[in-house]
Amino acid sequence: MKSLEIEGADEMISLEHKEFLFKPVGDYVIPAEKVANVQVGNNAEHALLVLTKTGYSSIPVLDSNDRLKGLLSMRTVTNSILGLAHIEYERLRELKVDEIMRAELDTLKTTDTFQKGLDYLIDHPFICVVDEAGVFQGILTRRVLLKQFKKYIYNVI
Ligand code: AMP
Repeated sequence: MKSLEIEGADEMISLEHKEFLFKPVGDYVIPAEKVANVQVGNNAEHALLVLTKTGYSSIPVLDSNDRLKGLLSMRTVTNSILGLAHIEYERLRELKVDEIMRAELDTLKTTDTFQKGLDYLIDHPFICVVDEAGVFQGILTRRVLLKQFKKYIYNVI
């Protein structure tokens, strides 16, 4: 069987079986109801509260039909109220989440493979998972993926 080789700092780990790479990400997704989110119509002040209280660096933005519309990070919120000379806190109430969120984002389908998730999570802490209609299903995080990977490696070695 062809082995999977993972390049490390000094050496390569060679895995004989790589079936887990072809498992659907749906099995590893943190479900939508457990994912902190904000709605498109919320203002930036509400988003700042959610981000601060949850401690997450970035959260999904959903519409009233639970469709994924974008991502909002703490940095996006603070950037949106930076004036030339000072921070314009009063703007937090005026700005709507959909005016400041990042609307272009990569997503996975629940049927996409673990391998596809792995490729993306090298550069990002999580990726959103949607169904065919764009309805938010949850997120695949780097943490969950690494835990699965660790479990797998310990079973193989
Ligand atoms: P983790 O790999 O668990 O550290 O999560 C990485 C990132 O995924 C966090 O910084 C958040 O942006 C996002 N995240 C993880 N879990 C949740 C959750 N339950 N609700 C919202 N965002 C989450």
